[in-house]
Amino acid sequence: MKKTILMLLMAGLLVGCGTNFKKYKSYDEYPVYNGEDLELTYSPSGSKFRVWSPAADEVKLLLFDNGLEGAAYMMKDMHRSKNGTWAVAVSDDLKGKFYTFQIKIGEKWMNETPGMWVKAVGINGKRGAIIDFKETNPEGWENDKRPELKSFADITLYEVHMRDFSVSPTSGMKYKGKFLAFTEHGTKNTAGQATGIDHLKELGITHVHLLPSFDYASVDETKLNENKYNWGYDPMNFNVPEGSYSTDPANPVARIKEFKQMVQSLHKSGIRVVMDVVYNHTFVGEESHLNLLVPGYFYRFNKDSTWSNASGCSNETASERPMMRKFIVESVVYWAKEYHVDGFRFDLMGIHDIETMNAVRAALDKVDPTIVIYGEGWTAGGSPLPEEKRALKKNAKQLNGVAVFSDDIRDALKGSWMHSEIPGFVSGTDSLEESVKFGIVGGVQHPQIDYTKPIYSKAPYVNGPMQSVNYVSCHDDMCLVDKLRSSRPKGASEDEIVRFDKLAQTVVYTSQGLPFIYAGEEVYRDKKGVHNTYQSPDSINQINWDNKTKYIDIFNYYQGLIALRKAHPAFRMTSQDMVQKNLKFLDMKTKNVVAYTLGNNANNDSWKEILVIFNGNRRPVGVQIPEGTWNVVCYNGLINPSGVLMQVKSPNLNIPASSAAIMYLAVEKP
Ligand code: CA
Repeated sequence: MKKTILMLLMAGLLVGCGTNFKKYKSYDEYPVYNGEDLELTYSPSGSKFRVWSPAADEVKLLLFDNGLEGAAYMMKDMHRSKNGTWAVAVSDDLKGKFYTFQIKIGEKWMNETPGMWVKAVGINGKRGAIIDFKETNPEGWENDKRPELKSFADITLYEVHMRDFSVSPTSGMKYKGKFLAFTEHGTKNTAGQATGIDHLKELGITHVHLLPSFDYASVDETKLNENKYNWGYDPMNFNVPEGSYSTDPANPVARIKEFKQMVQSLHKSGIRVVMDVVYNHTFVGEESHLNLLVPGYFYRFNKDSTWSNASGCSNETASERPMMRKFIVESVVYWAKEYHVDGFRFDLMGIHDIETMNAVRAALDKVDPTIVIYGEGWTAGGSPLPEEKRALKKNAKQLNGVAVFSDDIRDALKGSWMHSEIPGFVSGTDSLEESVKFGIVGGVQHPQIDYTKPIYSKAPYVNGPMQSVNYVSCHDDMCLVDKLRSSRPKGASEDEIVRFDKLAQTVVYTSQGLPFIYAGEEVYRDKKGVHNTYQSPDSINQINWDNKTKYIDIFNYYQGLIALRKAHPAFRMTSQDMVQKNLKFLDMKTKNVVAYTLGNNANNDSWKEILVIFNGNRRPVGVQIPEGTWNVVCYNGLINPSGVLMQVKSPNLNIPASSAAIMYLAVEKP
């Protein structure tokens, strides 16, 4: 699309170029198509094609024998149909064939596109594939069930990239970098310790969150031997799995079937699956599959007609337009139904409008209300859509059932994401106590928090703790170990870094809300100090599974934290009221110490009163603890959630440097 045509279209100046061309003064005048049969409806007796492109003058369907190369063996003119659509039917059985559409605007034929609703593609995603979806279902798929989930508060998230998980020689896995790696059991590292899905079960997480696994553009699927790495935030086909993660990207069935095998295998292991979805932009703007279908419509523009760029990736989609909203809503529902996906993480959710996110929630509720939705409540740049309409963190109260990442707790614990040398609470920086407390309560209103002090948010932004995703690091920016090392206070040893690490995740796993970790943190993963590893090689990004042996103490500690959280609903309260009633902060005399109690058998906990103390100082501190005898389950970097490390009596307790203490009131037998 040349900018001149786009600008003319936007100005409503392309009048009467074709015989049936209707003048639209703006995109708002485009008719909306509500049907669910857009682009392709296949059956052995025939295929029906329907394209929505109201401003087109002509539309063609092209059919091919090959998914990437060769000329069309058949071309068909599509005819104008209802509500801005163009339709044509082909009565042959087209299974095994490929297709594209071509749109003519004025006198110009645009480049071919497989469309945007396309559900199967040839290699590199340039042509749509006509397949029989029944052939994509693995054996037993009809019996696949989502593992039980009673409350969003019960979720523990594990964010992982397909290659990071399996590609290291120490993974012991066969399907390196593939969906099928998640189907491999009995895999071990060099020392014989469990890796892969068995490791995830040992760890105890409830949800695997997959970095982009829809079809993205940056990895050439015809050159897999190059082992090119990318996070995948460059969407090409939103409704198709990524080809490079399949064993045969040239076979359109393989990637779909193998994605389903992955989901099925995780479900069998009791683990749910979250997809990272990136509807906020496309890899390219003018030549994207969306823009070749309906030029301009799916994107936002600045007043001067240049492409707006809230994504930082040179374009941003326009969820407020009815057909883009319809697309996003139907796309997530499609993944939930066809692939049994259990949750969605919205990349740069702050680009989308609030109405769209609420429509996504409502549509997924109809599929299964336990499907989790969370997102980044921010953007990577300014957007023309007014802030009050966007799904930003500060508007989260208008997003019921949609959670947002808490950058407040993240940067309070580890220090600024932007300045790698600045340490956080766990590395001994004081004055971050209120931010830590803000995270502990899951971002809700709490009478003991001074909301003028948290580093980012100056007011509670959620309706309840289940709207807060608590974390200390993710794929973006330095991973936890690298950040702790690069902000290392003078004289801090590596043993101290380990203490900082454990303290940080102790806060994450005991806070109200949804805890989230970046894969490999439980085995002390680092990325060699690289900030932005989106296209770094495997050598930087891969999880070295031998770390599990070397840092087994850290793994055991993380495992213990997850087990503690799972066993004790007090850490998983479900409402602001509950948090206000049961969570009380203690008045600490020492700086950089945060302590609180969870009382009243909070959320039906078996423990009447729980005491949690975080000492962010790099020296031991003495604290006064509430009256009673306390059974200590976590102390000085050790945790035993099902036993007792020691008993302590009030009023004084020594908390070792950079560590957490968790205990519960010993109830004497009557
Ligand atoms: Ca791809």
